[in-house]
Amino acid sequence: MAQECAKNHEIGRCIVLQRWLAIDIGGTKVAGALVHENGDVCCEHSEPTQSAGNEQMAAQLQRLARKVCEEAGISVESVSGVGVAVPGTVDRERGIARGGVNLGIDNLPVADIFAELTSAPVALENDTNAGALGEKWFGAGRDIQDFAYMAVGTGVGGGLILRGQLYVGAKGAAGEVGHTIVDPNGLRCKCGQIGCLEAMTSGVGMPQLAAKLLGEEKARQLGRGELPSPPMIYAAAAAGDEGAARVAAEVGRLLAVSVVGLFRLLDVERVIVGGGVAGVGEPFLRAIYDGAAALGYNLKPEDVVLSPLGSKANLIGAAAVVREKSQ
Ligand SMILES: [Zn+2]
Repeated sequence: MAQECAKNHEIGRCIVLQRWLAIDIGGTKVAGALVHENGDVCCEHSEPTQSAGNEQMAAQLQRLARKVCEEAGISVESVSGVGVAVPGTVDRERGIARGGVNLGIDNLPVADIFAELTSAPVALENDTNAGALGEKWFGAGRDIQDFAYMAVGTGVGGGLILRGQLYVGAKGAAGEVGHTIVDPNGLRCKCGQIGCLEAMTSGVGMPQLAAKLLGEEKARQLGRGELPSPPMIYAAAAAGDEGAARVAAEVGRLLAVSVVGLFRLLDVERVIVGGGVAGVGEPFLRAIYDGAAALGYNLKPEDVVLSPLGSKANLIGAAAVVREKSQ
């Protein structure tokens, strides 16, 4: 049944068949929005994460859901489904978030929390798997059956879509490309391993890589006293700083090790790269292509692409989780 959305959005056509409530739980903020069938996002709200335990988080999630729907002029009951993305591991069957670093939750019963507001289906997924599903339904994976998604942000995560389905592995943790080892002589990762992709190419890892490659003093010059953030490194490289260009090139080479591994191991058709660090765009992508070429692997122009979903990727991914479940 077609319903009219009370909130006008830019394209002006608000008749929708499906409209999902998307909730993205992050370490620093919790965001909610309605995502329409065509991927349009409206009535977005976010709040700093209330990480004092399950009860507080449950109250926050319900408040946010009501706020989003209130702005749209609809009841929470009338949404087509609720999709939730959360860091860490999830119990998909029972709709429980096991808990993640800094979230302050312990086996949060996400499905039950939303069942108090609506009888629509509720689906929950790890955030980077949600990102992969977002690409499948609304992004750069719409036309293909086999692809890998990598999110390079504060950390590095990933998700695999194989034969059109999310592949979660034996213990539900497949696709953790951030903790594959790309340099046995690399930096130690917070997970305990040596040379994980995340330890050197993430928002947290790249400053450490700069210090290793350039020395602490030069790295701190780039970062005006602190170790340089990824945007600082890419800006300095673009302005002609040789040290920064070396760091950016090494990040590209390490990401290329992972990318080539994904193509060789899984025979995927595409690797889609998203996340905040990848937001720098073309220089980030070019370094991966250069890195692969230097390793003797010839990437074709459509093999590795940036996510087209941009800053809405997390919410669109959350919506895709319930879209996938309801198909
Ligand atoms: Zn690791």
